[in-house]
Formats: sequence, structure tokens, C-alpha cells
Amino acid sequence: MRNTALIVPLLLTGALGGAQEHHDRAPNDPFTLKPLSGDVYALYGRGGNVGFYVGPDAVVVVDSQFKDLAPGIVEKIKSVTDKPIKYLVNTHHHGDHVGGNEVFRHFAVIIAHDNVRTRMLASPAEILRDFPARVEAARKAGNEQQAKQLSEQLEAAKSVKIEEIGAPVLTFDSEVRIHVGDETVQVWHTPPAHTDGDAVIYFEKANVLHMGDDFFKKVIPFIDVAHGGSVKGYLVALDKVIAKVPASVTIIPGHGEVTDLAGLKAFRQYVADLLDAARKAKAAAMAKDDFLKQVDLPAYKGYSGYADRFKANAASAWDEAP
Ligand SMILES: [Zn+2]
Repeated sequence: MRNTALIVPLLLTGALGGAQEHHDRAPNDPFTLKPLSGDVYALYGRGGNVGFYVGPDAVVVVDSQFKDLAPGIVEKIKSVTDKPIKYLVNTHHHGDHVGGNEVFRHFAVIIAHDNVRTRMLASPAEILRDFPARVEAARKAGNEQQAKQLSEQLEAAKSVKIEEIGAPVLTFDSEVRIHVGDETVQVWHTPPAHTDGDAVIYFEKANVLHMGDDFFKKVIPFIDVAHGGSVKGYLVALDKVIAKVPASVTIIPGHGEVTDLAGLKAFRQYVADLLDAARKAKAAAMAKDDFLKQVDLPAYKGYSGYADRFKANAASAWDEAP
């Protein structure tokens, strides 16, 4: 699935959360539950993976996907516990991770990095700035349906009130901990990687780590440089996280299957190989255009999204490589 086609339902469902989203899972079963250790669960869906912890008196949820899926997510959580959902942590501001906030905000405290709130509140203005050209482009391409949907979002952005945006109400700059029962939920801001508001969430006792979109498992990442993301930053962020967690950790990526530290390191290798290819081309005095025509990392061709996003990753790597 391509980003362009997916931006549309994001905002139509009312989630003025972010102008980007990206997902690679077919929407055949958006509520697949995977129990992990220590009362932590992964919930696979149409957008970014959800994680949640069931404590003795409260549930902590990580990410909320889309507004239209949020009631189903809540229902799925209710199928394993009758404890109240008290906290929702957002890993970053993209619509496929915060779209359901509009549902969760009525019963949960929404927590995220400072920049997530800033980005979400800035989203209507971004739509007003960027969407007229996109409506025009869609019309020119003969895609009337897309033009109509974009226009509707443009109209919605004109009248949306700040209090209608499901932005986090509790924000932090470096880290925060949520204490529920005997579990400590560590929320760490990472150096800019996917965006400049990324957080990863570590359920300490359960030894489960939710990486948000700092980690795409066997999926070519989207690196949102327009919102502070960075290829080099990914390496710094990943190394920091890898150094902090035990080797036996179970990891929920932002997109793709639940995995382990080896899976995370394989993704780190992709980012390292990408930067290395750009660095070598620059050292050989190759022009950017030629690099982008030639660049290919066959080892990662099997990853989902290679055809869609690899060249964009390579362009960002070129811009950042020494
Ligand atoms: Zn994202």
C-alpha cells in the first residue's frame, strides 16, 4: 500500500494528527491480539502496532491507530480485562498512531513527547498550506475521488478547534515513568529518528519494549525528515535503546511482527548499510542523481515497501552522509 492512497482515510476519520502515515498490513483482521509476557499484549492492526499492559487497577495503552479502529481496539482490550484504560502513550504524532486519540481522550490521560503535541496542533495549518496543491495535483492526474477527499479534509482543517484535536495532555521532554501495580512503564524520548518527537516504551518487569516507528520489522521505514526525522539519528537512537535493554527483551515494532533484539539489530544494519552506500558514493564523487539511479541494497529487497520508500530513504541518507 502506498502512502498517498492512505493519507485520505486518515483525516477523513477525523484524526487531524499528522500529515503522514504508513502501514503495510492488509486490513483483513485489524484486531489480532498477541499475548506477550507479564500481562503485556501486542495488537496488530491497520496502522501502527498497539501495545498494552493490564495492571491490577489500570490498563496502559501504547498508540491508538485510527479513529475508526479505536472502538474495536477498546473492545479487544475489554475482552481480556475489565480494568479501566487510564493511560495512553503515543510513540509519535503520525495519524496511524494517534488517530484513535479522539476516542481514548474521553477516558485516558494521553501522554507523549512535547513535540507530539506541537506537531498535532500544527497539523490543520499544515493541511491548509499543503493540501490546495495536492487537490490540484489529484485533479490533474484525473483522480477525482482523491481530489474530493482531500478537499473535504481541507474544509475540515479550516474549522477544526484546538480542543477537538486529540493531542496529548501530559507531555515530557526526556523521559517519564508510569507506575501501575508492580510494573514500571518507562517512556524514553530518543534522539530524532523517525520524527523529532519519538518515544519508546519499556515495560520493565514484563521485559517488553514498544519501539514505535523507531523500528520497522522487515519493512522499509518512512523517515520523516520534514518533521525532524534523521537517518543518522536513527542509528544514534537505536544504539541508545539497544544499550539500555536486556538481551532477552521482547520487542513490538511500530510496523511488522513482534520480535527480539536480533530483529532490532537487523533493522539497525539496514540503516547503517543505507548510510554507508551514500557515504561511499559521495567519496567516489558521484552526483546525487546518479547515486539515486544506481543505489540498490539487494539484501533488503524482500522488505515490504522497498519499491515505495527505498529511494526516499537513499535520498535522505545522501543528504546526511559525510
Ligand atoms: Zn510514523
